Amino acid sequence: MLTLKDPSLLRTRNFIDGEWVAGGAGTIDVTNPANGELVTRTANGDAADATRAVEAAAAAFRTWSRIPAKQRAVLLRDWFNLLMANAEDLGAIMTAEQGKPLYESVGEIAYGASFIEYYAEECKRVMGDTIPTISNDRRLQTYKQPVGVVGCITPWNFPNAMIGRKAGPALAAGCTIVIKPATETPLSALAMCDLADRAGIPRGVISVVAGSNSREIGKVLTQHQNIGKFTFTGSTAVGKKLMEQCSTGVKKISLELGGNAPFIVFDDANIDAAVTDCMGTKFRNCGQTCVCTNRIYVQEGVAEEFTEKLKKAIEALQVGDGFDKNTTTGPLVNQTAVHDMQAFVDDAKSKGGDIVTGGGVHKLGHCFFEPTLVTGVTADMRLANEEIFGPIAAIQTFTSEDEVIERANNTEFGLAAYYFTRDIGRVIRVAERLEYGIVCSNSGVFSTEVAPFGGWKQSGIGSEGGKEGIAEYFETKFHSMGGIE
Ligand code: NAP
Repeated sequence: MLTLKDPSLLRTRNFIDGEWVAGGAGTIDVTNPANGELVTRTANGDAADATRAVEAAAAAFRTWSRIPAKQRAVLLRDWFNLLMANAEDLGAIMTAEQGKPLYESVGEIAYGASFIEYYAEECKRVMGDTIPTISNDRRLQTYKQPVGVVGCITPWNFPNAMIGRKAGPALAAGCTIVIKPATETPLSALAMCDLADRAGIPRGVISVVAGSNSREIGKVLTQHQNIGKFTFTGSTAVGKKLMEQCSTGVKKISLELGGNAPFIVFDDANIDAAVTDCMGTKFRNCGQTCVCTNRIYVQEGVAEEFTEKLKKAIEALQVGDGFDKNTTTGPLVNQTAVHDMQAFVDDAKSKGGDIVTGGGVHKLGHCFFEPTLVTGVTADMRLANEEIFGPIAAIQTFTSEDEVIERANNTEFGLAAYYFTRDIGRVIRVAERLEYGIVCSNSGVFSTEVAPFGGWKQSGIGSEGGKEGIAEYFETKFHSMGGIE
């Protein structure tokens, strides 16, 4: 039973054109992955609902895009304040539908809200250029103008923050937005929208259409003629399909897709610090983040020490219900994910990998999997190549800097990479040579609203955060003024 200070935040209808409405396709059961119990039922929207939301967003765009940035900033600031004031309830809603420990959920609320705060400030500083003229009878200027209605699809692993990272800059820029959250986690999106409404953001500017027919809703959000931009966070496979759909109307797109992050520990690293940050980057959100450590490379001289310390840290994790305050590691999102983890372990075992700890379904059953450490990982194993998306740490060893950079770059992904070394020359050399959108030396903590987050290669297109994040929501217009004598 989910208890909230403000029970009205548990919204179960979709929010379209400023109204809470039933779904055209009935209802969705939202269940708690920790125990399989029903949290509530929410509206199951369909393509007609999405179309209505896009048309309302197009109507709202006419006025929202023309409100001075300073006024939009005030409304966004109010939304930010409400999100922060209700962080505990929003965190509880997230833990109930997604499973992550409550402290992680509450942390995510602050992280997601930080993008709304930051872009409320940033939108007042977006400027075009005055360009030195090429003849005395002409003046040359550029304007930055909002791209229009934004179609947005988000995943279940960060049900709040992935919306904050997109809706914050989109609304600040003067765009309007229609959001389709993941079917597993509609409640966080609906609660955010409720608070946007309370903050006074006008009707139609932000809508949420939760719905399990993601293919049909996705077609509307990528192909409706009123959509000016499409933004997506999720898997690379789905991102590619949506990119293809966008091509029919030549839409501006941003894609935040899968990762396959290397975590490199050189002989001269501070091993204790490397272990601590390896734990953070590997096991946060039960290993279900796109920037989670995926391939751990340890230089031969420190492999034994690092492995021993990592094993101890893994065995200290507390697996349990996210509402239990001792829990550090919650359940996986569903039972398919549990089967996926078992398949990774079985594949490694069959090819000679050593299961140092864990390796199977946790005694709590349901969606819980044991935090696992595998050593002796070789290039032919799935653990060395695929995005794991769960609580399995997989260690490989290496001998030289050149070798490990080549192996780390040998993937079609390029989102985040981590490495630990105390040699300053190596800090710079490795940063320059890793083919990733985000490189972190001597730390596993990097995510912030003030810096760009985005992937290279098949990890995506575009950035969220920093000055780059809001640029994604503008078109540049060149005004060539003639007849000036
Ligand atoms: P997913 O299967 O791609 O789903 C993500 C979203 O896309 C959900 O809302 C889903 O809706 C929707 N969707 C699925 N198929 C669709 C289709 N044919 N048309 C339109 N929408 C569709 O990914 P996931 O398994 O939920 O999330 C895990 C992936 O996301 C991982 O690869 C992870 O690395 C990536 N991720 C990336 C970032 C980043 O910033 N780069 C951040 C977080 C996650 P339904 O739920 O209704 O199916």
